[in-house]
Formats: sequence, C-alpha cells, structure tokens
Amino acid sequence: MDFDYDLFVIGGGSGGVRAARLTAQDGHKVALAEESRMGGTCVIRGCVPKKLMVFASEYPEAIGYARDYGWDAKVGDFDWSAFSGHMRSELDRLEGIYETNAQKAGVKIYHGRATVEDAHTVKLGNGQTRTAKHILIAAGGHPVRPDMKGGDLGMVSDDVFNLEALPRKLLIVGGGYIGCEMAGIFNGLGVETSMMIRGAQILRGFDEEARGHIADCMGRRGVTIHTGCAPVEIEKRGDRIWVKGSSGHQDEFDDILWATGRKPNTQGLIAEGVGVKLDRRGAICVDDYSRTDVPSIHAIGDVTGRVELTPVAIREGIAFHETVFRGNKTPVDHELIPTAVFTQPEMGTVGLSEEAACEQEPTLVYATAFRPMQQAFAGGEERVLFKMLVSKETDRVLGVHIVGPGAGEMIQFVGVALKMGATKADFDRTCAVHPTMAEELVTMKEPVRVLD
Ligand code: NDP
Repeated sequence: MDFDYDLFVIGGGSGGVRAARLTAQDGHKVALAEESRMGGTCVIRGCVPKKLMVFASEYPEAIGYARDYGWDAKVGDFDWSAFSGHMRSELDRLEGIYETNAQKAGVKIYHGRATVEDAHTVKLGNGQTRTAKHILIAAGGHPVRPDMKGGDLGMVSDDVFNLEALPRKLLIVGGGYIGCEMAGIFNGLGVETSMMIRGAQILRGFDEEARGHIADCMGRRGVTIHTGCAPVEIEKRGDRIWVKGSSGHQDEFDDILWATGRKPNTQGLIAEGVGVKLDRRGAICVDDYSRTDVPSIHAIGDVTGRVELTPVAIREGIAFHETVFRGNKTPVDHELIPTAVFTQPEMGTVGLSEEAACEQEPTLVYATAFRPMQQAFAGGEERVLFKMLVSKETDRVLGVHIVGPGAGEMIQFVGVALKMGATKADFDRTCAVHPTMAEELVTMKEPVRVLD
C-alpha cells in the first residue's frame, strides 16, 4: 500500500521534533502537525521561560551579595513588562529555530490539530486526511485545574508567561516541581507568595531530608507554606480572590496559581475503535519500544505519562527512530535519570532517596550541610546539602542529592558516574577540585547513619 508519508508525527515538542528530524535526515518522507507553537511545552510554556524567570528572580539576592563584595549596588524596581517582552521575543526566536531545523531536515509541517483516524490515517484540522506507514504521537500534556467551584478564578502554569502584570500577593496550590519552582520565582520577583499543599511536605517522592531542607530555605526566603491544607472554598471578592483552606486558614490574594499536576493531551485525539489503549489518567500505554497496541502507532513523551521530562522525551524519540527506521531495537532506559528542580535553592538529584534505598537494601548514608564560601563571606546563613546513599554490601552509590547553587549542573556529572556503576570507593579515589562545593562529593569520610 502506498502512503503519503513514511512517518506522521503529532506534536512539535522536543520529542516529536527530534524523531521527525532524525527520520527525515535518513531520507524518509516525514510530516509533523502542531496545533500550537513549534517547540512545545518545554520551549514555549515550560522549562525555557521558567528558567529565564528563575534567572530574573535571582538578581536581588545576587545584588545583595555584591554589596558585601565591595560593590556599590542596589536593587531597583523590577520591570515585568520589559522582562516578559524580552522573554517572549526569545521564545519566538527559539520557536523559529525549531521550525527551521525541522524544515531543513525535510519535514513537512502542518500548523493545526491532527487526530488519529485509523492505524495509518491522520485527520487534519481542515478535515483533510493524510496516510502514513507509521504514526508517532508526541502530543504532550497540559496543566489541570481541580474541578471545584471557583477553580476557574486561578491560572495555570501556561498563563504565567503571559501575565500582563505581576500579582502583589499570590497563592500557589500544589507542592510539586511546578508549584515549588514558581514559588521561588515569584518570591524572588518581590511577590508575596504563599503555598497550600495538601500533604505534610513539598516535593513528594524526593529524598525526605532534601525536601525538608528546601522547604526550610524557602520559608526563610519568604515563602509561606501551609501544609495539610488544600483550598475548600474560593470566592471572588472585589478584585481579589478569597480562599479558605482545609486547615481553616483563609486569606485574600490577587491571583491563584494551580500547580496541581498535568494530564496527557489525549482527549479527542484518537478515534474510537483504533485500538490504542489509554490508562486511567488518559496516558497512552506503550511497551519498552514506545509501541502502542496498534503496531503502526507509537507514542513518546508526556502523552505516555512515563517520566515527564524533556530529555526523556528526546531519548524516547531517538529510540523510536532507531527501532522503527534503522532496525536497531532500542528500548528506552528510564533508570537513573538525573534531574534538577529549580527551586531556590535548587536541587539536583539522581538515583534512590534515603527512604527508597533503605527499603531496597542495607544503606550507608553520607551527608553534609554547610554554608558555602561565597555566601558565608557575605553573611548568608543558608546551608547547602550534599547527600550520598551507598549500598552497605556492594559499596555502589545508590543515590545522590544536592541542594544548593549549581546543584543542577553538578548532578549531570554525578549521573554519568552512577550510570557507570560508581562505588563510594570510586568517588573517594577521585581528587577534589578545590575550593568548590562539589569537592564534598569526594571528601565525605564517615556515614552519618547506617540503615540495616
Ligand atoms: P506534580 O505531580 O509534581 O505535583 C502536583 C502537586 O499538586 C502535588 O503537590 C500534589 O499533591 C498537588 N495536588 C494535586 N491535586 C491536588 C488537588 N486537587 N488539591 C490540592 N493539591 C493537589 O505536578 P507538577 O504540575 O508540579 O509537575 C508535573 C510534572 O512536570 C512533574 O512531575 C515533572 O515531571 C515535570 N516538570 C519538571 C520540571 C523540571 O524538570 N525541573 C519542572 C516542571 C515540571 P500530592 O503530592 O499530595 O499528590
């Protein structure tokens, strides 16, 4: 059977574009449909603008330290419209690069929605159909608001980057990656920032000690965290929003940010009867090779609800290309993924938390917390945390957690070592780089705890 394309990709985010480009570069006929903007969540309304906002929000602190280093520097006013205008131009530039690179590789781009009609057919927004030997769904996800009265009064993370002005007083609901990163950003930009989290601590799933350390630092920096508290009543009062939490706490805010999780973009995406299975969250079920129950349809990235991180989606796109178009069966390796949470202070983490490590096997816990040189000189009280979990039996490093400036940069290289199966002895025989914070990784001598 003749098809219009060898591959049709739905979704122009990091994963979809990578798979499309690689396949087109190999000489295959490839098309891609994107209903919003090329670049997807990461580039347009996620990692990239978020990180730019983190940079913007860190300047008051840096200027504060500059004074202690002899500079006659002072923090003036922050001009949101100047910054956000500049940020949006940068996103336009990156969007253009994504589009141009895909086109240069030979990918035909359809701007508009595409849905899956059957195993080899996609329907475009204008009602036309295109056929393809393979369909790759890389449609991503979207932030969700809880279904409650007044829920529509708040914004979601997509809206943050298009704010016309900063709120004076903000409530963030949810204590995951997005809630905690946004809290640091808004607090740094001078917004009075509170969080309501329904659990006992922020960042569920991460190492307990690291979570506690970050929450403590966020509190000292000015973020108010209400734990065991989720909104139960929300009302518009004049130009403000009144919120009552389950703990009884109530207050008025200029805005609410729902950071209560994300959902895969599968609604109305696949016609009934095609045979692609979804899980309870609406994520597309795939095997180790990103293949759905329909052999000609694969899915990668957030739409599969596996690990919702850009570099993982890219890896999945590369593995799909290798498997399907190069005949080199490549399963996606989801083990030991290093990641950073751009809280303030930031966290870099790879491998098991202390709780998961000791559940798995007897574990030696190495940890140190100290005031780093640059900030201590300026009278800063905040400590950095370095933590390493080591198998008592094999000496293998099971997990590393770093909280402090540059943690995201450091954990990238720790990730390489762990992927190679590094032992504590390997770290110990590596010479320290002095004077740095990272040298603590190779100088922690005695475990602070032994968990048998
Ligand atoms: P998360 O699932 O990480 O966090 C959601 C938060 O909302 C949790 O604290 C959760 O509480 C809470 N919550 C959920 N539903 C409700 C509700 N109805 N009422 C009150 N609280 C609620 O989602 P995020 O949106 O923060 O992030 C989504 C994903 O995006 C992340 O898992 C990550 O993979 C990715 N991401 C990665 C980043 C990075 O790499 N730096 C940055 C941003 C996002 P509880 O814990 O009790 O369930």
